[in-house]
Parts: sequence; structure tokens; C-alpha cells
Amino acid sequence: MFKKPLPDFTIEDTYPICINYIDDDSIREYMIGMKNHVYVQSEKYLELIHQSKLEELDIPFIFNIPVDANGKIIKAHENNWFVKLYKYYFSKNDIKYAKANQFYNRIKLDGVTSNKSKRCCYCNNHKIEVVDHFLPESKYVFLAVNPVNLVPSCEECNDNKHAYSPDSSKPVLVHPYFDNIDHISWLGVKLHGRLKDEAENKYIYFFEYFVKNLDQCPISVERIKKTFAQLKINNNITFDAQNFFNTELIYDLNDPDELGNLSDVDLALHFKKKSERLIIQGYGVNHWKVALYKLLSTLIDFSYFKENPL
Ligand SMILES: [Zn+2]
Repeated sequence: MFKKPLPDFTIEDTYPICINYIDDDSIREYMIGMKNHVYVQSEKYLELIHQSKLEELDIPFIFNIPVDANGKIIKAHENNWFVKLYKYYFSKNDIKYAKANQFYNRIKLDGVTSNKSKRCCYCNNHKIEVVDHFLPESKYVFLAVNPVNLVPSCEECNDNKHAYSPDSSKPVLVHPYFDNIDHISWLGVKLHGRLKDEAENKYIYFFEYFVKNLDQCPISVERIKKTFAQLKINNNITFDAQNFFNTELIYDLNDPDELGNLSDVDLALHFKKKSERLIIQGYGVNHWKVALYKLLSTLIDFSYFKENPL
């Protein structure tokens, strides 16, 4: 998780352009009539975010989508058009809807000049592939095309998030536009052990990533833990970290032309420098590789990695 710059356009830019594409005059008129309600809810969203109470955001009756006798939503109802604005115009890669779609692209491609901004703002690992509704548009229909609720993410985080929505019993996930925890080192990793791969005649090393218990943090640590668990960030970073360690680093540690001849002290120093360099390169203190190098920089004995029967 890391902070992304807030888009430099608002619901007052996106909403009028999206509704202007609606062909049906009566639906377009209906959506024009809903404009102020949408803007009021947008103001509330921002107010509650700043009070760290987003779970209190209500869904006014006027946005309800009625259900039929079987409990299924009535698709023909005008309020379904909020989600259609996103689906038909905002996220549609079609020259016909370019005025709406350019907002989608600006969110997705936001600041691609730096390495950091190319990565998903939830896992800080995979590349950006989709735009995620921070609060689900299926429930908060009035947020469907609101830029403050649209964040660039990878597919895996987006899928794992599902239709998560906060309530009083569930903490709000870390919001990439408003919660700044970039300067806090909250991601930890520990060595979980090793197993002998008899067929390959080598050890496979396992690591476990976790959210540290912090005394001082600008937001509740429970929110970081909830985001980490809900989006299964552990799965995607552990997979990449173990793959990197077992297919690259372990060979370097055992190769005399690479790191094999360095003393334990020099190895620890080497990994300290590696972690510092990645931070300078914009990976942030909470990238899995930075945390892994930091762990290795604290070791005083590397023999555990050198008994590898390579
Ligand atoms: Zn991700």
C-alpha cells in the first residue's frame, strides 16, 4: 500500500460528460435531476474520509434500486444507469466515448514517469491493470464515476477485494489517495524455514510476510492488517519473494564469483546497501524486496543458506 496522487479532476468534471452520452432523453433528464444528489454524496465522502469515518457513508433512499418479487434488482430502473455510466462510457475504450474514457485512462496511467507509480497502489508489486472502485459501485452507485473513489490497481488485488464495503465491525481499507503510510515501515518478513527438494538436491527456503505491530502510525494498524488480509497481498508478494530467493539469490550466495566469498559481516552490509538503493529508486520502504533485504541485513550468520547442496 502506498499513496497515489489524487486525480486532478472531480465528479463535477466526469458526471456531466458521462450523462451527456445517454441517448434516451427521459433517462438523461433523470440523471441530470440526480446531479446535485451525486455531488452532495461526494462532499460527504470527502468529509468522512477526513474524519476517518468512511464506514458511516449512507446510501440515500433516492439511490435505491428496487427489487422484484424474486428479490432480483429491477434492471430497467433508472438508478442502474449510474453503474452503466461507468461500464458504457467511462471505462469503454471507444473513440465515441473518448471524452469520458480519457478520465479512466488518466487514472490508470497516472504518473507513469516513475517506477513506483507503475505499480498497483495496494500490493506495491504487480503492475497496474485495472481501475478499482474503492467502495463498490454495486452498492454505492453514486460513486461509480467519482474520481476520488477510483484507484489504479492490479487485477489480483481488484479481484480479491470483491465488493468489500466497510461497516462498524469492519475497518475501512487503506485509501490510496488519502492515507499516507509511506514513511512508516509496516511490512515485515521472517524466515519460515526450508525444505529439501530431493529431486533437485537443493533446499527451498520459505518466508512469511506480515504487518508489524506499530506503536506509532498515522492510521489504525488494524486498517493496514485488514487491507493486507482482504486483498491477500501476502500471497502475491510471498510468491515473488520466494521465487526470487530460491532461483536467484541463493545461487549468488553460493557462487564465489558473486557473494559466496563475502564474510557474514560484509554480506549483511551488502544487503543493507541493496535495501537502501531500492528505497532511493522509489520502491518505498514497504516493497517486499526492501523488506527481504532488510531481514538479510540483520543476520549475523549466513551458513544456513550456504549448506545448499548445489
Ligand atoms: Zn495489487
